Amino acid sequence: MPLNHLQIKEILDENRAHECEGYGKDHICVQIASIAELPSRFGQFQVVAFWNNRDGKEHAAFVHGDVMGAENVPVRVHSECLTGDAIGSLRCDCRDQLETALKTIGEMENGILLYLRQEGRGIGFVNKIRAYGLQDYGYDTVEANLALGFRDDEREYSVAAHMLDSLKVKSIRLLTNNPKKINELAAYGIKISERLPLIIPPNPYNEFYLRTKATKSGHLLSIGDKVRLPEQGDQPIVAGMTSEQIGALHQGEDLVVGG
Ligand SMILES: [Zn+2]
Ligand SMILES: [Zn+2]
Repeated sequence: MPLNHLQIKEILDENRAHECEGYGKDHICVQIASIAELPSRFGQFQVVAFWNNRDGKEHAAFVHGDVMGAENVPVRVHSECLTGDAIGSLRCDCRDQLETALKTIGEMENGILLYLRQEGRGIGFVNKIRAYGLQDYGYDTVEANLALGFRDDEREYSVAAHMLDSLKVKSIRLLTNNPKKINELAAYGIKISERLPLIIPPNPYNEFYLRTKATKSGHLLSIGDKVRLPEQGDQPIVAGMTSEQIGALHQGEDLVVGG
């Protein structure tokens, strides 16, 4: 059962009074500012709008079913990508990841997609497009990588942890292909009972993942000589990948810096 009007009122009253010293080294505190019904092509959701005390970023949670006080809630953390999520850009596969996560959650009893407003892995929209532009002009991918590849993951997971606490989730099953992410969320006190792999169906647009090779310069993904940089915090598995290719995705996590 999703939240009813009385429950929503209680949550909003409680959040108006909420104050804490914040999560993570940036001490970010978020409050639930509003909740509304959101029927979608992926099922019935409620959208939860978060207010943020530090940088004005308005994060969102898309909640399916009853999650307050629930155990083992499936959760996916997604970072905003305007070009991919909304426009269907093929420079990245953010939209495939987003749709697969929403479809997966929509088919389950309950679940949450945390949508973090940190475009281009936290560097912002303008810088992301600058990085794209550099690649178009054939610039060294390391330079583009510097612009696009770096982000403080701690920040992402501190906000995510606070959002899950605001939603009063008792424990989660994290939709990720990266076991390290479990430790990061756990460090903020989130109880993770299981890891669920995110497997996206193969299509002509994500074929480049199937050709992924681990390179010394990190998790750069290429098709022909076009280099693609990952924009989400962890990479998807495409149905049909070999175990070697899946392993290469994880290896890249430690090797973001170009070499
Ligand atoms: Zn707080
Ligand atoms: Zn993207």
